[in-house]
Amino acid sequence: MNKHISPSNRAATCQDDFDPNSISVKEAHQRVSSMLTAVAEIETITIRHALNRTLASDVLSTVNVPPQTNSAMDGYALKFDDLIANKPSDLRIIGVAYAGKPFEGEISPGECIRIMTGAVIPESIDTVVMQENTEVNDNVLTVLGQHKKGQNIRLYGEDLRRGEAALIKGTLLKPTDIGIVASLGIDSIQVYRRVKAAVFSTGDELKNIGEALEKGQIYDSNRYTLVNLLENLGIEITDMGILGDDPDVIQKAFLAAKNNFDILITSGGVSVGDADYVKQTLDSLGEVSFWKIAMKPGRPLAAGKLGNTLFFGLPGNPVSTTVTFYQIVQPALRQLMGQNETHIPTLRMKSLSKLKKRPGRVEFQRGIVTLDENGEHCVKSTGNQGSHVLSSMNNANCFIILDEDCGNVDEGSYVEIQPFRGIIGL
Ligand code: AMP
Ligand code: MG
Repeated sequence: MNKHISPSNRAATCQDDFDPNSISVKEAHQRVSSMLTAVAEIETITIRHALNRTLASDVLSTVNVPPQTNSAMDGYALKFDDLIANKPSDLRIIGVAYAGKPFEGEISPGECIRIMTGAVIPESIDTVVMQENTEVNDNVLTVLGQHKKGQNIRLYGEDLRRGEAALIKGTLLKPTDIGIVASLGIDSIQVYRRVKAAVFSTGDELKNIGEALEKGQIYDSNRYTLVNLLENLGIEITDMGILGDDPDVIQKAFLAAKNNFDILITSGGVSVGDADYVKQTLDSLGEVSFWKIAMKPGRPLAAGKLGNTLFFGLPGNPVSTTVTFYQIVQPALRQLMGQNETHIPTLRMKSLSKLKKRPGRVEFQRGIVTLDENGEHCVKSTGNQGSHVLSSMNNANCFIILDEDCGNVDEGSYVEIQPFRGIIGL
């Protein structure tokens, strides 16, 4: 059963997860979006190194693609009017056209040529018959079956017309974008410079890999997750290491990052514990835009500006760090990178698990999309949703997004999911 509460008459109760000081995820996106300025500096690079960069100017087509009308099949190129309707037609084969080796002669009535896929169609020709519908005896072609004028021919400019924008500014370059640029014969393009990010972890309990752990200490995993999340997006990363829960040390690091990076991302120390100094440091050296979002995991999250540097202080629990990165930081990064499209599509599917949920904030539970016995896509929970259980995130292939107002979800109900990975990229 989905329990609904009207957002307008909500008050904090101990039954739900509502916190009047939190802002919605949507508002968090809007505030972040309005406080950031996309990178403006442009670089010219060769297309060989352009994957995952953001295009900084439209790429106009300098040619027609394809440049010439050509055959879509291996077969025979002929004039449609030479075919006799509903009867086998005989034509004399007078030559061959290969891709890259056009047939240069004249083709008279009653004649045809052998043609390969991609070969230029001679001017007098209007139809290609695939070889499977023909017989050949002593240079005479017999065309069998029914045909249509213009069939199996790819017209010049069918893919792209000269002067048309082949790609628009703000496009995140994927392999086929680069293929399109190459098809135009262009080998260098303008992209925005890479976004520069600095990352550090906070916590007296954190140790670097290689150091011995004493009682109560743990290895810093968030920095490795964050650095690689950033690497995936093609961000230039400066790893500032681990900082203890010491306001002076945190202040020094903030000052070192201020105005020297496009974005500073930290994890830990943003809650209301006695050793949480991140938000107060942001308050004293920059501006806090918000620090509580109505989401789970990830309610405490400090966002703001340190001079020109965008700042995100993510909560320290490893799942919270990752979820808030994907949901709040990644859209901001894509906007910083100059990208047009930052929306991530969602799908609806049946839940095979019963999901525990209290109204009051959006939950990003971790799920696994699978096929049920009818071959229909369904989702099941990864199990323990504790924000310290990184394997619940790691075993997942999607987020199950449960709205603020939604309560427990019964098995068999439909839910919204956000897949982690499509077929392309990230
Ligand atoms: P905090 O947000 O600082 O209150 O930390 C919340 C929880 O996350 C604590 O159990 C921390 O030990 C843990 N934690 C904080 N930072 C990290 C990190 N870099 N790697 C792994 N766990 C962390
Ligand atoms: Mg801490």
